[in-house]
Amino acid sequence: MEQTFIMIKPDGVQRGLVGEIIGRFEKKGFTLKGLKLITVDRPFAEKHYADLSAKPFFNGLVEYIISGPVVAMVWEGKNVVTTGRKIIGATNPAELAPGTIRGDYAIDIGRNVIHGSDAVESARKEIALWFPEGIAEWKSSLHPWIYE
Ligand code: GDP
Ligand code: MG
Repeated sequence: MEQTFIMIKPDGVQRGLVGEIIGRFEKKGFTLKGLKLITVDRPFAEKHYADLSAKPFFNGLVEYIISGPVVAMVWEGKNVVTTGRKIIGATNPAELAPGTIRGDYAIDIGRNVIHGSDAVESARKEIALWFPEGIAEWKSSLHPWIYE
Protein backbone atom coordinates (compact mmCIF):
# COMPACT_ATOMS: atom_id res chain seq x y z
CA MET A 1 0.00 0.00 0.00
CA GLU A 2 1.27 3.49 -0.90
CA GLN A 3 2.71 5.77 1.79
CA THR A 4 3.40 9.49 1.97
CA PHE A 5 5.31 11.81 4.27
CA ILE A 6 3.25 14.63 5.75
CA MET A 7 4.71 17.33 8.01
CA ILE A 8 2.77 19.98 9.92
CA LYS A 9 5.17 22.94 9.79
CA PRO A 10 6.04 25.11 12.82
CA ASP A 11 3.26 27.62 12.05
CA GLY A 12 0.67 24.82 11.98
CA VAL A 13 1.88 23.54 15.35
CA GLN A 14 1.99 27.04 16.91
CA ARG A 15 -1.47 27.86 15.57
CA GLY A 16 -3.08 24.77 17.08
CA LEU A 17 -3.92 23.09 13.77
CA VAL A 18 -2.47 19.65 14.58
CA GLY A 19 -5.76 18.00 15.54
CA GLU A 20 -7.67 19.50 12.63
CA ILE A 21 -5.05 18.40 10.08
CA ILE A 22 -4.74 14.87 11.44
CA GLY A 23 -8.54 14.65 11.47
CA ARG A 24 -8.77 15.43 7.76
CA PHE A 25 -6.44 12.56 6.84
CA GLU A 26 -8.14 10.20 9.30
CA LYS A 27 -11.64 11.02 8.12
CA LYS A 28 -10.66 10.54 4.48
CA GLY A 29 -9.82 6.93 5.41
CA PHE A 30 -6.02 6.99 5.36
CA THR A 31 -4.06 5.09 8.01
CA LEU A 32 -1.56 6.74 10.35
CA LYS A 33 1.69 4.72 10.30
CA GLY A 34 4.16 7.12 11.94
CA LEU A 35 3.88 10.24 14.12
CA LYS A 36 6.28 12.38 16.11
CA LEU A 37 6.75 15.96 17.32
CA ILE A 38 10.32 16.96 16.50
CA THR A 39 12.45 20.09 16.17
CA VAL A 40 15.00 19.63 13.40
CA ASP A 41 18.34 21.38 13.00
CA ARG A 42 19.62 23.34 10.02
CA PRO A 43 21.56 20.52 8.28
CA PHE A 44 18.50 18.26 8.54
CA ALA A 45 16.15 20.91 7.11
CA GLU A 46 18.64 21.63 4.31
CA LYS A 47 18.70 17.93 3.49
CA HIS A 48 14.91 17.68 3.44
CA TYR A 49 14.69 20.65 1.05
CA ALA A 50 17.93 19.90 -0.87
CA ASP A 51 16.11 20.08 -4.23
CA LEU A 52 15.31 23.75 -3.54
CA SER A 53 18.82 24.82 -2.44
CA ALA A 54 19.29 27.11 -5.48
CA LYS A 55 16.03 29.01 -4.86
CA PRO A 56 16.18 32.58 -3.53
CA PHE A 57 13.78 31.67 -0.71
CA PHE A 58 15.84 28.65 0.45
CA ASN A 59 17.42 30.29 3.52
CA GLY A 60 14.10 31.73 4.67
CA LEU A 61 12.47 28.33 4.14
CA VAL A 62 15.10 26.59 6.26
CA GLU A 63 14.77 29.26 9.01
CA TYR A 64 11.01 28.70 8.98
CA ILE A 65 11.25 24.91 9.27
CA ILE A 66 13.74 25.02 12.17
CA SER A 67 11.86 27.79 14.02
CA GLY A 68 9.89 25.36 16.22
CA PRO A 69 8.65 21.81 16.48
CA VAL A 70 6.99 20.13 13.52
CA VAL A 71 4.70 17.09 13.44
CA ALA A 72 6.19 14.44 11.15
CA MET A 73 3.83 11.74 9.93
CA VAL A 74 3.54 8.79 7.61
CA TRP A 75 0.10 8.18 6.12
CA GLU A 76 -0.84 5.09 4.13
CA GLY A 77 -3.57 4.32 1.62
CA LYS A 78 -4.49 3.88 -2.01
CA ASN A 79 -3.13 6.86 -4.03
CA VAL A 80 -2.23 8.68 -0.79
CA VAL A 81 0.60 10.76 -2.35
CA THR A 82 -1.60 12.42 -4.97
CA THR A 83 -4.72 12.58 -2.81
CA GLY A 84 -2.67 13.95 0.10
CA ARG A 85 -1.46 16.79 -2.12
CA LYS A 86 -5.10 17.50 -3.05
CA ILE A 87 -6.12 17.61 0.62
CA ILE A 88 -3.21 20.01 1.27
CA GLY A 89 -3.79 22.28 -1.76
CA ALA A 90 -1.39 24.17 -4.02
CA THR A 91 1.88 25.68 -2.77
CA ASN A 92 0.65 29.29 -2.77
CA PRO A 93 -2.45 29.67 -0.55
CA ALA A 94 -3.29 32.94 -2.33
CA GLU A 95 -4.40 30.89 -5.36
CA LEU A 96 -6.66 28.56 -3.41
CA ALA A 97 -10.34 28.55 -2.78
CA PRO A 98 -11.31 27.34 0.69
CA GLY A 99 -11.67 23.57 1.05
CA THR A 100 -8.05 22.50 1.19
CA ILE A 101 -5.85 22.77 4.29
CA ARG A 102 -3.74 25.60 2.86
CA GLY A 103 -6.82 27.24 1.31
CA ASP A 104 -8.58 27.23 4.66
CA TYR A 105 -5.73 28.01 7.05
CA ALA A 106 -2.93 29.88 5.26
CA ILE A 107 -2.35 33.22 3.52
CA ASP A 108 1.36 33.49 2.64
CA ILE A 109 3.36 30.95 0.59
CA GLY A 110 6.14 31.12 3.19
CA ARG A 111 3.75 30.18 6.02
CA ASN A 112 1.69 27.50 4.34
CA VAL A 113 1.23 25.21 7.36
CA ILE A 114 1.94 21.78 5.91
CA HIS A 115 4.24 19.71 3.69
CA GLY A 116 3.32 16.65 1.66
CA SER A 117 5.53 14.48 -0.57
CA ASP A 118 5.09 15.25 -4.28
CA ALA A 119 5.71 11.73 -5.66
CA VAL A 120 5.99 8.11 -4.52
CA GLU A 121 9.77 8.21 -4.92
CA SER A 122 10.20 11.43 -2.88
CA ALA A 123 7.85 9.97 -0.25
CA ARG A 124 10.13 6.94 0.06
CA LYS A 125 13.19 9.19 0.50
CA GLU A 126 11.46 11.52 2.98
CA ILE A 127 10.12 8.65 5.11
CA ALA A 128 13.64 7.17 5.26
CA LEU A 129 15.07 10.58 6.26
CA TRP A 130 12.47 11.42 8.92
CA PHE A 131 11.81 7.92 10.30
CA PRO A 132 15.17 6.08 10.31
CA GLU A 133 13.84 4.13 13.31
CA GLY A 134 11.04 2.71 11.12
CA ILE A 135 7.27 3.01 11.38
CA ALA A 136 4.42 1.11 12.99
CA GLU A 137 3.26 -2.22 11.57
CA TRP A 138 -0.50 -2.39 11.88
CA LYS A 139 -3.61 -2.71 9.76
CA SER A 140 -6.74 -0.74 10.59
CA SER A 141 -9.82 -2.86 11.27
CA LEU A 142 -11.73 -0.29 9.19
CA HIS A 143 -10.00 -1.56 6.04
CA PRO A 144 -13.03 -3.45 4.60
CA TRP A 145 -15.26 -0.43 5.29
CA ILE A 146 -12.98 1.86 3.27
CA TYR A 147 -11.77 -0.41 0.43
CA GLU A 148 -13.99 -2.52 -1.82
P1 GDP B 1 5.24 22.29 -1.91
O1 GDP B 1 5.66 20.95 -2.42
O2 GDP B 1 3.82 22.65 -2.33
O3 GDP B 1 5.41 22.46 -0.42
O4 GDP B 1 6.14 23.40 -2.63
P2 GDP B 1 7.71 23.35 -3.02
O5 GDP B 1 8.27 21.99 -2.84
O6 GDP B 1 7.84 23.99 -4.35
O7 GDP B 1 8.36 24.36 -1.97
C1 GDP B 1 8.58 23.94 -0.64
C2 GDP B 1 8.13 25.05 0.28
O8 GDP B 1 8.94 26.20 0.05
C3 GDP B 1 6.70 25.54 0.08
O9 GDP B 1 5.74 24.75 0.74
C4 GDP B 1 6.78 26.93 0.65
O10 GDP B 1 6.70 26.90 2.09
C5 GDP B 1 8.17 27.37 0.26
N1 GDP B 1 8.15 28.13 -0.99
C6 GDP B 1 7.96 27.67 -2.25
N2 GDP B 1 7.98 28.66 -3.14
C7 GDP B 1 8.20 29.79 -2.42
C8 GDP B 1 8.33 31.17 -2.76
O11 GDP B 1 8.25 31.55 -3.94
N3 GDP B 1 8.55 32.04 -1.73
C9 GDP B 1 8.64 31.64 -0.44
N4 GDP B 1 8.85 32.56 0.52
N5 GDP B 1 8.52 30.36 -0.07
C10 GDP B 1 8.30 29.45 -1.05
MG1 MG C 1 7.57 20.11 -2.48
